[in-house]
Amino acid sequence: MNKSENVNMPKRRISKQINIGGVKVGGGAPITVQSMANTDTRDVMSTIRQIKELEEYGCEIIRVAVPDMEAAQALKKIKKGIKIPLIADIHFDYRLALAALESGVDGFRLNPGNIGDRAQIKQVVLAAKERAVPIRIGLNAGSLPKNNKVKNVATRMVDSAMEQVLLLESLDFDLIKISLKAFDVPTTIAAYKAIAKKMPYPLHIGITETGTPRTGIIRSSVGIGTMLYIGIGDTIRVSLTADPKEEVIAGYEILKSLNLRQHGPVLVSCPSCGRTEVDIIKLAQQVETELQKIRKPIKVAVMGCVVNGPGEAKDADVGIACGKNRGVLFKNGEQIGVVEEKDFLQALMDEINKL
Ligand code: SF4
Repeated sequence: MNKSENVNMPKRRISKQINIGGVKVGGGAPITVQSMANTDTRDVMSTIRQIKELEEYGCEIIRVAVPDMEAAQALKKIKKGIKIPLIADIHFDYRLALAALESGVDGFRLNPGNIGDRAQIKQVVLAAKERAVPIRIGLNAGSLPKNNKVKNVATRMVDSAMEQVLLLESLDFDLIKISLKAFDVPTTIAAYKAIAKKMPYPLHIGITETGTPRTGIIRSSVGIGTMLYIGIGDTIRVSLTADPKEEVIAGYEILKSLNLRQHGPVLVSCPSCGRTEVDIIKLAQQVETELQKIRKPIKVAVMGCVVNGPGEAKDADVGIACGKNRGVLFKNGEQIGVVEEKDFLQALMDEINKL
């Protein structure tokens, strides 16, 4: 098992708990990893196929875009074909929200203020309440209502979210989750810190439009990781311009980095240096690929020499410290053998599979 250090982290903010299709969010529940399908929601088969693949990677809540009535009605079949809670992403038309509810969605992402007049909003909120379907008030810095008096984006996001929350509360609805996402990391953190103090509701955290995995994962990790470290965040989405399974993988890596969740293996590998006498980069990549097929929360170390190698390898469930032509294999802290370079990968995998 991954060993977590006994280090005191700042206390987690305990929010009001909501239940999204059987998955608890907030109130101290494990921080969940979610993603958004990038298929055409009207293409039911492709959407189900993608969501099922995401389920395999550990996605716990999935959101889909609902641009029109055909998409809203397709949700019914999609819901039947998947196991995880389904969230409908809706803008501008309250009728889409009502149709999505009819289709059996487990949650919404919408901004009550942009889906209709008060009577229409009331209709949606009462229907959601009747089915105990939570609503995420999801604000993005790029689509904030204009307010020339307040220049600060974080403040505008918080003010706008508060307005939307008050609107729902005025309709006696409190199954609320909030997100306030911007591309700028300090802005996003400032907004979440402010709303966390003002509101008891769970927070869906993320940095938006972060780009391709190379930069997007770093930007998301810094933003989401900082918030999680200070105790803010109940569910996360890493937004990437990529296959959504990359978002799920990155989400778990962020949570694992802070010892907040265990999910699949952790690979420790050295950066390599002038002491390295084997192709450690290639070996680490091969091991990483093999580990993607494993769900056990184990720690595996691939190290390039006998200086720092044995310490890390001993600390892992299975590890190897590689020297010239040979490597020393460790399991559960004990040296268990010496293997030839050509057998490094196989020997490691054999021991991992025996765990
Ligand atoms: S473990 Fe050894 S080979 Fe790897 S970076 Fe450290 S000193 Fe260099």
